[in-house]
Amino acid sequence: MHDANTTGTDVLHPETLAITAGRPPHGVDAPMNVPVHLTSTYGAGGDLEYGRYGNPSWTAFEHALGALEGGRCVAFASGIAAIAAVIDLVEPGGTVVAPRHSYTGTVGLLGELESKGRLRAVFVDITDTAAAVTDACAGAAMLWFESPTNPALEVADLPAITRGAHEHGALVAVDNTFATPLLQRPLGHGADLVVHSATKYISGHSDVVMGAVIAASDDLAAAIVRHRSLFGAIPGPLEVFLALRGLRTLPVRLERAQSNAQELVRRLTGHPALEEVRYPGFGAIVSIVVRGGADPADALVERTSLWVHATSLGGVESTFERRRRWPAEAPTIPEGLVRLSVGLEHVDDLHRDLVTALDSLA
Ligand SMILES: *Cc1c(COP(=O)(O)O)cnc(C)c1O
Repeated sequence: MHDANTTGTDVLHPETLAITAGRPPHGVDAPMNVPVHLTSTYGAGGDLEYGRYGNPSWTAFEHALGALEGGRCVAFASGIAAIAAVIDLVEPGGTVVAPRHSYTGTVGLLGELESKGRLRAVFVDITDTAAAVTDACAGAAMLWFESPTNPALEVADLPAITRGAHEHGALVAVDNTFATPLLQRPLGHGADLVVHSATKYISGHSDVVMGAVIAASDDLAAAIVRHRSLFGAIPGPLEVFLALRGLRTLPVRLERAQSNAQELVRRLTGHPALEEVRYPGFGAIVSIVVRGGADPADALVERTSLWVHATSLGGVESTFERRRRWPAEAPTIPEGLVRLSVGLEHVDDLHRDLVTALDSLA
């Protein structure tokens, strides 16, 4: 494996790493890509042994995403499987501090584990001061973190809060799905673990469900690998191949999606059908709050032709949904909030489609 992690990575830009990391060594007749290794077992006596313990197709993806995040990557069957593996690092009875506006699956998982007595979950407002969030970490085993948050798009002071949590001896884990390693590298700010739903921007084509953990240390990475081998939430070789193929173009996809998002925010701000346009200033997720609550927001998502009414995010195509249609969404999220995942279509087409539907609400 050509491992961009070990030599000279400091001088390579992320755009280059996304292309070069996780390739087979160059050479006569060498394939450009690590193939899809469809096998359940390997000849005995080596490092791999069995398909639940390792697969060269996983390794290629792990080298590439690890190089981008600056740590040791472990691929998982889904984002939530990666999250479950990280949360399982907490000792029984330990406390996990998390943002109240985290991904609903994360909140659901923490609630489930708390109801079984496995851990204690404490939810905080990460827009509070770094000192207030830090205080909540006293005695906690882990600070779980999402920034920007889904779907409120609140941004935390990541370096300050990470420092504060470490002073209390808590592990710091960050769900970096929204920002991607191109816009935010939490390990560089001292975080111990990063998690991705690779289903979203990393794969980028709405055709894969997959996740990953990136650990700052070899010890943490070994604990995560052990969890994957014991609990078995392994990704399929084809899914990993597709996720790596998607990762290759992440920089250009994100550049276009982000510029589309910024232009849409500029054009939509002040529209009379909207109470609010929320955008953290980077990335390609925008949340708009429709005036009048659930009914007009539900009407909006039915009246477009380009924008697809669907959950999930981070694909080349633009999708949107009213988040409170999910009973598990936090009650502090406005009923009329519609989360936009801005894709790569021409911004004029996206704008016209959305504004025509918005105008029809008046
Ligand atoms: C989708 C998502 C997840 C869950 O990932 P899956 O791949 O669906 O299991 C976790 N965190 C965030 C921020 C997400 O958007």
